[in-house]
Amino acid sequence: GCKEVGAALKNEIKRWGLDREIKVITTGCIGPCSLGPVVIVYPEGILYRKVQARDVPEIVEQHLLTGNIVTRLLYDAPGCDEQSRSYRHIPFFSKQVKIALRNTGMMNPASIEEYISRDGYAALAKALSEMTPAAVIAEVTKSGLRGRGGGGFPTGQKWAMTAKATGALKYVVCNADEGDPGAFMDRSVLEGDPHSVLEAMAIAGYATGAATGYIYVRAEYPLAIQLVTLAIGEARRYGLLGRNIFSTGFSFDIAVRVGAGAFVCGEETALLTSIEGKRGEPRPRPPYPANAGLWGKPTLINNVETFANIPPILLQGADWYRNIGTEASKGTKVFALAGKIKNTGIVEVPMGMPLGEIIYDIGGGIPNGKKFKAVQTGGPSGGCIPVEYLNTPVDYDSLKELGTIMGSGGFIILDEDTCMVDLAKYFLEFCQEESCGKCAPCRLGTKRMLEILERITQGNGELADIDRLLQLGEQIKQTALCGLGQTAPNAVLSTIRYFRDEYEAHIKDKC
Ligand code: SF4
Repeated sequence: GCKEVGAALKNEIKRWGLDREIKVITTGCIGPCSLGPVVIVYPEGILYRKVQARDVPEIVEQHLLTGNIVTRLLYDAPGCDEQSRSYRHIPFFSKQVKIALRNTGMMNPASIEEYISRDGYAALAKALSEMTPAAVIAEVTKSGLRGRGGGGFPTGQKWAMTAKATGALKYVVCNADEGDPGAFMDRSVLEGDPHSVLEAMAIAGYATGAATGYIYVRAEYPLAIQLVTLAIGEARRYGLLGRNIFSTGFSFDIAVRVGAGAFVCGEETALLTSIEGKRGEPRPRPPYPANAGLWGKPTLINNVETFANIPPILLQGADWYRNIGTEASKGTKVFALAGKIKNTGIVEVPMGMPLGEIIYDIGGGIPNGKKFKAVQTGGPSGGCIPVEYLNTPVDYDSLKELGTIMGSGGFIILDEDTCMVDLAKYFLEFCQEESCGKCAPCRLGTKRMLEILERITQGNGELADIDRLLQLGEQIKQTALCGLGQTAPNAVLSTIRYFRDEYEAHIKDKC
């Protein structure tokens, strides 16, 4: 409904002759999906939630003309009292630290001028005018940034490997094939701040010696594709992409490639194969993309969120970034809160924030008076964390210890009514369907696991089936070719680890 609301605001503001003083700006998502469409009135920062076009005359006449807040449209959150009507004081926002999302929801993503006015392309200018490629890589390495796509590999190390690889032709690739159910972090960045990714890719090109970049976006994100394509054209028009950027002799350009909806194409080697125009199937590693990637050439591949962190790191310095987060997980992480939680939406928090703080203080807790049961992190490749671990700091290592992963940032909250066996079956079914079929452990192993799960949930299972699932799951993890297969059993393994009684109940009660 935001298009209608935006159009109604423009009309009404014009009708009252306020259009010289008040600008209406359409932004990307500012985060709280459950409250949308949202209108924020600046400079006071009053947030109106669930606004319909019919509410617009009241907002204009009451707030913009006479300065009286339309209280019936306010978000009635704890902590949002009379003195702190600004959205900035609502815990959903005040507890967040926005680095990757610094511009998302704050500016018109279709305007390069707005991006430039918010320090856009200043990091690229700094890199090209004040830093050598080695110095850029050293700064990224020092920041401690790790890949936000799931693996958590140190970003600076990846950049250094690509820079070191021999070959005159190199590529930079942005993985925007966000396919996890319940994940929409990269979509938010591309729809809210596409230039930050373009700028970071150009910096990466300078640092590694590449002159060409590709953004691989899934076809299910038409708005992101449209805005990124527009942004590339605008950046070229301003001489920020293309030949001889800032007259430094450095040339770099970017093209968009649209993925056809295969989950496996989020795996980096499958993504590269897909860009080459072939069926998107993973390749064995090594060789790694840093040495032999796109068309066999050295290729740096990072995901959207990783790139979005780069410009602030160069502008504010690695030491500033290192001060945020934990010892082994620096900076912030963007999560997509989904499922049984009041404030569904996109949030960015410092690494190490306790799980309970994300779910209760930012997420607002569980709706309808239900109890929190578990959270599934990392999508189908991840695992679940039960209620007794609510104090766990959310970082790469703590989640790994609990048998799950950070993944790209999917955060699906489950309440007391969720059957964990059904949940595991849902994720396994997803992985089974998305298996590319290239290797037997994943193609056949996940099928057999699914058959066992179906047996159990139809009341035909036996207790030995649980051990069969564990054994088969471990074998698939160890022998599948790519990350999709290696992590496909995770949802089953982690639900057995924490909720074995539910599997046993299905078997014993024949339900
Ligand atoms: Fe394909 Fe699965 Fe093997 Fe990966 S693990 S190559 S998705 S069959």
